[in-house]
Amino acid sequence: MQKIADLHVHTNISDSTFSPEKVVGLAKLAGLGGIAITDHDTCAGITPAIIAAKDMDIEIIPGVELTAEIEDDEIHMLGYFIDWQDKEFTKKLKELCRVREERAKEILKRLNEQGIDLKYEELLALAGPGIGSIGRLHIANLLYRKGKIACIRDAFTKYIGNDSPAYVKKFKLSPREASDMIKSVGGVSVLAHPKTINTENKPLKDTVEMLVDEGVQGIEVYHSDNNTRESKEFKEMAEEYGLLITGGSDCHGLGKKEVLLGKVKVPYELVEKLREASGFKHE
Ligand code: AMP
Ligand code: FE
Ligand code: FE
Ligand code: ZN
Repeated sequence: MQKIADLHVHTNISDSTFSPEKVVGLAKLAGLGGIAITDHDTCAGITPAIIAAKDMDIEIIPGVELTAEIEDDEIHMLGYFIDWQDKEFTKKLKELCRVREERAKEILKRLNEQGIDLKYEELLALAGPGIGSIGRLHIANLLYRKGKIACIRDAFTKYIGNDSPAYVKKFKLSPREASDMIKSVGGVSVLAHPKTINTENKPLKDTVEMLVDEGVQGIEVYHSDNNTRESKEFKEMAEEYGLLITGGSDCHGLGKKEVLLGKVKVPYELVEKLREASGFKHE
């Protein structure tokens, strides 16, 4: 049977509801040969996943998902085959997570101004004791749990989405800075879910071209939110700009209600291409 991998998976160290150990168990059940742990701004889920995967014949690809700002929008950048234990890199991630804490408090303050009383302590309790990177999906789930919204999507459209009243930006990284941060630890930088980029003012191709100039090496062609036509469009862009191709489910456990792990997967030859492009050395 062909070996396959899901290259976009979160854990409860960021905004999934599944622990690294649970993610590994579910990956095994789904018949995956590899998964990339790509938490937002933290790599603290990688070592526990590697320990859990020992003797399970599943490769844990060390990854991360950073946010970069472009004009009035944000993009997500995935990093693959990174040296996740690098001291300087870890320090930078810690700073990004500290800024996330302040931002979460500011979002709650703005929600409170709109008559929605949520406490930071409640948010921390929902995120769990091992939380490394607090984010909007936690806030969306708290709003849902408190009966303030009918579904998670509503949290974003009504309150905390990029154009919504309680939206607050995160740490400001440029695409170049995010890509350099990934490359500084031997990783390959990949544009995540291009579908989420706002194309009202600019065609997607222009943004992709700009990101390639800024150092991005790959594009996430396959993703749970894409239809076949969109994936085809992104694959054509990969070919046009000579970009590496990745794909993954972007599973957030039950954070977005449906468990997506293994629903999007890629053949291992794409993983090998990423490995070759990285500075990752086997021990
Ligand atoms: P943050 O990194 O804190 O800005 O939060 C980003 C998280 O929110 C990611 O997991 C996104 O997938 C999620 N997210 C952003 N917009 C939406 C949306 N409209 N519906 C559901 N989840 C979203
Ligand atoms: Fe997320
Ligand atoms: Fe993302
Ligand atoms: Zn993600």
